[in-house]
Formats: sequence, C-alpha cells, structure tokens
Amino acid sequence: MSVSLAPDYSKAQRLVDKNVLKNNHFHMMLQQYSLLHSQINSGTDEPEYDYWKAKFNAPEPFGLLDLGIENGFLTRRDIVDVLGDKYDKTFGRIAPYTCQKLQVHIVSWERDTHTLHYGAVRPLKESQKKELITAINEEGFNVRHLKYRAIDTKRILQINSRQKIVTDDEISTLISEFNHDPQDPLRLKKVKEYILLQALQAKASNIKLVKSNDVLECVISFTIGQTTAPKHVLSVKAAGRLMQAFKDDAKMDPIIKDRPQDGHIEMVFQDRKVNFRAATGATVSGEFMSLRVHDLGSIMSLHILLNRFPELADNLRHYMRQKDKGGSLICLSGTTGSGKTALLAALQREADRLGCTIISIAAPVEMRVRHTQQMQINEDIGQTANVLTKAAMRLFPDILIQEEVRDPQTAEGALRNGDTGHKTGFTIHAVSAISAAAKIVSMVPEEFKEQAWNIIGDILHYSLHLKLIKKLCSCALVDEDAGGNILKRNPHGCPKCDYTGYDGMVQCPETLQIGDGLEVRHEALKALKEHRLADLVKLDGVTYRPRDYYARRLYDEGVIDHETYQRQRTIDVLEVIQQKRDQKAQEIMDTINNIDIDQLNEEYSARDEREPVISIEEIEELFMNEDDEATDEDR
Ligand SMILES: [Zn+2]
Repeated sequence: MSVSLAPDYSKAQRLVDKNVLKNNHFHMMLQQYSLLHSQINSGTDEPEYDYWKAKFNAPEPFGLLDLGIENGFLTRRDIVDVLGDKYDKTFGRIAPYTCQKLQVHIVSWERDTHTLHYGAVRPLKESQKKELITAINEEGFNVRHLKYRAIDTKRILQINSRQKIVTDDEISTLISEFNHDPQDPLRLKKVKEYILLQALQAKASNIKLVKSNDVLECVISFTIGQTTAPKHVLSVKAAGRLMQAFKDDAKMDPIIKDRPQDGHIEMVFQDRKVNFRAATGATVSGEFMSLRVHDLGSIMSLHILLNRFPELADNLRHYMRQKDKGGSLICLSGTTGSGKTALLAALQREADRLGCTIISIAAPVEMRVRHTQQMQINEDIGQTANVLTKAAMRLFPDILIQEEVRDPQTAEGALRNGDTGHKTGFTIHAVSAISAAAKIVSMVPEEFKEQAWNIIGDILHYSLHLKLIKKLCSCALVDEDAGGNILKRNPHGCPKCDYTGYDGMVQCPETLQIGDGLEVRHEALKALKEHRLADLVKLDGVTYRPRDYYARRLYDEGVIDHETYQRQRTIDVLEVIQQKRDQKAQEIMDTINNIDIDQLNEEYSARDEREPVISIEEIEELFMNEDDEATDEDR
C-alpha cells in the first residue's frame, strides 16, 4: 500500500504507543496521506490541490506528523515530548519568526533539565537569548536554559529562508511605488501579499481599507489587540485597484459597490493555511473593506491557549471527559474579540482528542475547524436554531454549543438544550462571569423567564468570562525595583512589536464554578437571581476567581506589565465603588423615608432665626449678572 511512503510512519506509530496520538486518528491520517499522495501524483481540479502540492514539494519531507498537526490531532509539543531530538524537523517550525530573525535553528530539547539546544549563524546577545526563550515558551514549552551547539550555518540559513518575512522598509518602498503606478499587475500582486503578510506578522486581528471619494488619500489600518491604527496611505486610484483585487480574490462581485458582500481569502503563512473573512460595505462617500484574520494554526490547542493557567485547561478537559454528566451547562462570555471563538475552536479540537463530540450551532460560523461538526443558522432556507438543534441531537453529541446567543429564540434554545439532559454550552456577550446568567435570562421570552432561572439553578456548572489583555513583547526589560520575574515595557520597543513594547494578547479570564450539591445550587440560584455577588462567592461549593487573580499571576510571571495589571484591578475597584454608591444611596433613601416630618416642623418652628442663607432673588440675580457679563464680552 502506498501509505508506507510516509517518511515518519514509525515515529507516528511511537506516538500511538505512548498514547499521545489516538489510534483512530492515526488510521485516518494514513488514509488521508495516501489519498493526498495519489492526488498529487495524478493531478486534480480540487481547489485544495495547490496547497497540498506545495506542502509535498517542500524541501523538507511532508509526513504523517505534519498531517496530524494540520488536523489538530497533535501539537508540536506532543511530538517533541515523545520523540525529543529524534525529530528535529519539528523544531524548525517552532517560533519561525523569531528563529528567522535571529538566524537560529533549534536542535533539541531536554525536558528534564528544561534545556534547549540551538545552533546560530552568529553568537546571540543576552537580550536575544531571552527573546528566543520567550518565543519558544509561547508555543507551550518550558525552557529555562539555552545551550549552544555548533551546526552548519548553511543549513540554518537554508531552513530559515523558507519563510518569507516582510520588513517595514520593504513594504513602505513598495507602497510608494504602487501609489505612483497602480497599473502594474505584478506590483499589485505583491502589495496584496505583503499587506496580508505584514498583518499576520504583527498578529493583527483585522485589516481595514477605507476608500473615500472626497479625500485625496485612503487609509489601510490594522487592529492589533484592542487598538486600531493607520498603517498605510494609498492614493484613491491605488486604493480602488487594491480593493478590486481583494474582491476578486474573495470571489465577490467587483461591480457591486452599494451593497454589503461577504467572502474568504486564503493564504499560506509559515507553512499553514490562514483565512481572511472579507466583508465590504458602502459609506456616504465611498466604500470600505474589512479583512478579519482567522489563523487556525495559531490556536492549536487548549493547553497552549491557556498555557498560563493549566488548571483551567484541566478543568475544561475534565468537564468534557465526564460521560455521565448529563444535563449541564457551560457559559462562555465576553465582548467581541475576547477570544470566545478561539477558545471554542480549541475546545472542539480537544474534544476530538478526548474522544467526544462537540457540535456547535452558529450564525455565522466564525472559524472553521477541520474535522468538527459546525452548523450554520440560515433562516432564509429554514435552517433556524431550533431546526438545527433537532438535527444535532440526532448526531448524539456529547456537548452541544449554541454560539452567540443574541435573541429570544437562541437564548431559549440554549437553555432548553440543557434541559434535555445533554452537556450543553453557549457563548454570549456579557460584562462578567456572574452577570452572564442574568443576561441570558433577560433575553428569553417573558413566559419562559421563571423556567429559565430554574434551568440555570439546576445545571449551570461553569461560567467563564474571557478577556484578552496586552502581552509584553520579548523586548521587555527587567523591572529592577520590583524584583523577581517582573518585567516592564521597553519604551523604545523593537521591530517585532512595531515599537510599542507590546506583542499580541494573552487570555485573562474571570471564572465561576458551581458544584453539584443541591444546597449550594439552591443558594447559588438565589444569589444569582438577586445579583448578590458577595454572598454567591462565599458559598461552600462555589469557586470564584476574579480577573485580578489571574492578572496578578500574569504580572508575577512577567507576561504583562504593571500598568496592564493595574487596569484589570481598576475595573474591580470601579465595581466596588458602584456597590458602595448603591449602598450609600440606599442609606440616604432609608433616612429620607424615616424622617418624621412633624418632629422636624416642630424643631424648625422652635428656632429663633429663620433667615435662609441665600434667597431665591439673590440666586436669580447671580445668574442674571453672569449672563450679562458674558454678553458684554461677546460684544
Ligand atoms: Zn518588542
């Protein structure tokens, strides 16, 4: 059989023996490999063809393990943990950007001593070593020491040259040439590619292109973290050409300018496929296009996504694995861009590894995950949340997730799903882990409200409120005053962080877990209903961790700076102030309600001098004068 062609068959087999790779996944990979191989050899019209062809024709042999990573069955760390330095190809793909920048190649990994062996074209400075360690650890490793090994520099350069990196200078020059002559098709192609590459390198989540006919220039901006900033300036003509070209790539109708359109653009970045969800729309004076980045490869697994809080990943994994936990509800909340979609995708991949099925119902599906079941609501063709739920039930899911609860139907549906004895979940926009329950109840139809609360009281087990906060770049400096691992932002930054000192985001959640006991559930429901936060968190069986608990850990580990940490605290302080204010207001109301008017009158009439401090006439006079003065000055 042609499967024996896979160069790493025995290595994959070892991962199966070590229980890292599931047997059925291994067999699926074998079949997939042989299918792809025969397609590559015979040629095919499938749109995926070019992608796989490029993979198989890459200088390093493409094998089963790469397929495993691509499918989400394996992570690089899994492979390295089992195979160690017998698989140095993997290392070439860990933190490719940093390795290429520093001209470094990772050779092997000694897990017991936390030591990474590397080869380099030239000796690394201390700051560069630190940068390398940070970048590798971001991929889920725990490197503490580096050890230099002499290897052929030609090989390092060869491995690293496979990845294309765009520098700021390169792209600036290109764009100014493009502005002068937007007609050259080759240049246009390059501009498209470079802009997408630059966005991926900067870990931008969104690219926006605004074309307006009443100004001389148009702007391309990137959203990085929670800030959107202009990146490039184009002439109106150049912007028009570029937008047209992006529309072509996204398979939109280039003629339509007055109606919103949707589409997808795909590109290969660092050996993996990246998806841009394109949307266009009209403005008063022109048109805009937004390209939302969905980098599947960048959110490989639960333990990398939550690598700073392994106990959270363990809890979620434990929850998914519990087969008998019928009728339970899990809630993921947060604002737009808080990482809900990414966490859900990670859960879906993890579920597959744990041998359970998650089916998600969404409108629309934000991020496509390979080999998972995602259903898309489309009311136009009768695919409502209700219809899809029924269809999903027939597939016997272990967990059924309703994504983006946003109207009475989806809210009621999400809660009723849980009532059927399934493990269920939903995602929702809410401001905190605790208020998410009240939020979903507020959305259901009036006649269902009481039942909705009861369902929550019976089965809500986990509520996670997600938030992404700014992570320090590897150029961060040691904070001499603070001691320990604490770092502070490098005010000058470096090219990797676009000179901001921050690079990417890290998840900083708020979590609420409610135990199984009848008593605790009853009390928790009462507290949730009446929004008695303080009482809720004191209950035996309820585990609540506020955001600043997690932020503190990130700060202590040198992941975020003091300012970012403090900001997570401020929100809590504001909440306390609000509570205090509410309390004060209540006290004042109580006082007012308890005033004995008769007694006051008595006291008042008993006083000798009754002259008011200021009379109404005096006040009026004051205001009149002020007005007069103002008018005088105006004259
Ligand atoms: Zn930096």
